[in-house]
Amino acid sequence: MSFEKIGIIKPLLDAINELGYKKPTTIQSRAISHVLAKKDVFAAAQTGTGKTAAFLLPSLQRLRHKKTLQPKAVRAIIVSPTRELAVQIEKELLSYAKYMDISSVLLVGGKSLETQIKHLKKGVDIAVATPGRLKEHIINGSINLKSVEIFIVDEADRMLDMGFVTDLRLLHVELPKNHQTLLFCATQTQKVRKLSKLILKKPIFIETARENSATELINQQIYLVDKEKKAALLAFLIGSRNMDQVLVFTKTKQSADTLADELKLDGLKADVIHGDKTKARRNKTLQKFKSKEINVLVATDIASRGIDINGLEQVINFELPSLKEDYVHRIGRTGRAGNKGEAITLLDDDDKEQMKHIEKLLHVKILKEEIKGFEKQSKHTR
Ligand code: AMP
Repeated sequence: MSFEKIGIIKPLLDAINELGYKKPTTIQSRAISHVLAKKDVFAAAQTGTGKTAAFLLPSLQRLRHKKTLQPKAVRAIIVSPTRELAVQIEKELLSYAKYMDISSVLLVGGKSLETQIKHLKKGVDIAVATPGRLKEHIINGSINLKSVEIFIVDEADRMLDMGFVTDLRLLHVELPKNHQTLLFCATQTQKVRKLSKLILKKPIFIETARENSATELINQQIYLVDKEKKAALLAFLIGSRNMDQVLVFTKTKQSADTLADELKLDGLKADVIHGDKTKARRNKTLQKFKSKEINVLVATDIASRGIDINGLEQVINFELPSLKEDYVHRIGRTGRAGNKGEAITLLDDDDKEQMKHIEKLLHVKILKEEIKGFEKQSKHTR
């Protein structure tokens, strides 16, 4: 299957050729034709599978014919749970639309409302938004949703976990009757299914999560270790394996800060991103990590959304996430688009139960090992 065969038009083909995409990923070959046929789609696809292009390419194609826009009107809305992810989506959108005449606007918090209002004034083809900021624009009357042709909800499971369900429903009510809706999630949780029933009409179901090539490409390892030795083991692994770009996850902002400080004391170039850091600060840290000015980035789950680092080889779970689905998101930061990746979990007794749930979710059993010099002292480990 090629992009040409599934009906992608020349300007988009030219753009993706330049990006080096040779053929559609599974989610792309399964979703694109349905989106082009204006069907509602409910797709479960993890991050790293090419899901963003799966909705962007056909949506851009659907919007290729210019229309005179009413003031403040938008033709497509993409909502994403976090600013970082929204920024990433718009960036991808601009690269795919390089040879098309499509206008877009980014509606996220932390950026000037006035500038966004100015952009919206003349009408715009696509708005990429976080639910909170979009709501502000709706309340302000600075956006008119009556011409929306396509409504896309990305990472719906995540968005619902973050408590955006009322915002999504409100938004849905504002949309015209005959729009197309695309709902993407990493895992089809109960909450997502409930939302899908509310906002989708006769959807096409696509599930690629289980046979996800990305997770298969990720080598998952677990090291059993006592809690108090974890930071030392982490520093040892980073040093002894010469990791020069590793993303480390903690459960809370506090432990992220503490851990980053400990790693710095160990002489590692480490920094931290989490929700308490300003957007500017987070962007700056991310740039430094991308350019390998810092080698270890300690992050919480929410702050890490949308981080897309080409060729990131290692992800380490210093602590497991409270939501088992987040494990999938975390390890999806590596092994992207067919690259190999490694996901290491440092497992102490507190996280053992959660690891069992995760293994059940992924239908895998991961070998539990120990590292010499960091063996567990307490008995009931395996
Ligand atoms: P996503 O799952 O949307 O986060 O995409 C993961 C990565 O795959 C992004 O960096 C995309 O640029 C890249 N990508 C998307 N589609 C393709 C494709 N067909 N071939 C190669 N890379 C792709």
